[in-house]
Amino acid sequence: MTAQTSSPDLARVRKVLRSVPLIDGHNDLPWRIRAEVTPPRDVVAYDLRQHTSGHTDLARLAAGQVGAQFWSVYVPGEVKDSGYARIQLEQIDIARRIISQYPDRLALALTAADIEREFRQHRIASLIGMEGGHAIENSLGALRVYYGLGARYMTLTHNVTTDWADAALDSARHGGLTPFGREVVREMNRLGMLVDLSHVSPGTMSAALDVTEAPVIFSHSAARALVDHPRNVPDSILRRLPANGGIVMVTFVPAFVSAEAAVVDLRHMAREKELKQTVSDTAERRRALEAWDRDNPQPRATLAQVADHIDHIRQVAGTDHVGIGSDFDGIDHVPIGLEDVSHFPDLFAELARRGWSDADLGKLAGRNLLRVLHQAEAVAQRLQRERQPSTTTIDELDRK
Ligand SMILES: [Zn+2]
Repeated sequence: MTAQTSSPDLARVRKVLRSVPLIDGHNDLPWRIRAEVTPPRDVVAYDLRQHTSGHTDLARLAAGQVGAQFWSVYVPGEVKDSGYARIQLEQIDIARRIISQYPDRLALALTAADIEREFRQHRIASLIGMEGGHAIENSLGALRVYYGLGARYMTLTHNVTTDWADAALDSARHGGLTPFGREVVREMNRLGMLVDLSHVSPGTMSAALDVTEAPVIFSHSAARALVDHPRNVPDSILRRLPANGGIVMVTFVPAFVSAEAAVVDLRHMAREKELKQTVSDTAERRRALEAWDRDNPQPRATLAQVADHIDHIRQVAGTDHVGIGSDFDGIDHVPIGLEDVSHFPDLFAELARRGWSDADLGKLAGRNLLRVLHQAEAVAQRLQRERQPSTTTIDELDRK
């Protein structure tokens, strides 16, 4: 909690967050349980009723007044051990097992109405968000089945450019989206799965905004005008959000919210790329990168910087186009003042101190995302009357 934040501000935001669900756009707990804890993949052993080693557990979610959570089902784009779809299915399985492990506290949510109902029941509405369009393996049938399993958003890429969409941190090969990429967006609209533009290049953001019939989201990004990191959203895209209806859910990733941290992060990535070209032994490469990280520690970001991004997006896109997307349990570093999921109210108190009204804090917390999801559901209903599931393939659309 910041020193300037007086307790009347905190009391005020706690009241707001009792009347509106705080909807966080991105939490990587399923990947953490899969890969970073012992025993791996064991949602019973990683007991959320205890204080966990990570950023998330039930007591801290309650202290943070989290009303709904998009649990990220992330699949790395860099490894292709037995195909992306297997890992994607396993990640959805982990997320669903987490949700069903605590039926008194968490409930699977598939619609905006589910979020509203579970919030009244004092359970955390739990949504599933896919991170990485490579997981569909260029198949619209796979996309539809993921929707059937509960996925309600998909980032079109992760850090690797796919066969049909350019990623922010990879080379732009398609000038945004290929014809198949545009068909993916249209099919997501028809299903009612939110098109998530975090992780994609500005060209892909622009192409997706051109084709989408429903509001888009950025589940975990910040403002590029404040921090020039390729993962952030340029003002030219923010200005298109009022017409589209979409929202940027502001992330807490230090390298995206602090300009000083971004510089070190970009140098880290350049060093990593250089090592990939010059050192063939992967273990040696990892040791060299770890040594570089020790010599180049990342400067800390702050809660006030996160609030600056929220203020900037409100200024450029408007109060109706901003939300929260922490990336807790997906980040090694956290901002000072936002150490774990219990700290969300401190961020809202900082904004209250800066003059945000209760109504605007409610929009930021969850009303904006609820509006987006209701609208996407209405678009899907209309499109399902107008057209059948798309049966086209990437070979048919992108053959050059
Ligand atoms: Zn991410």
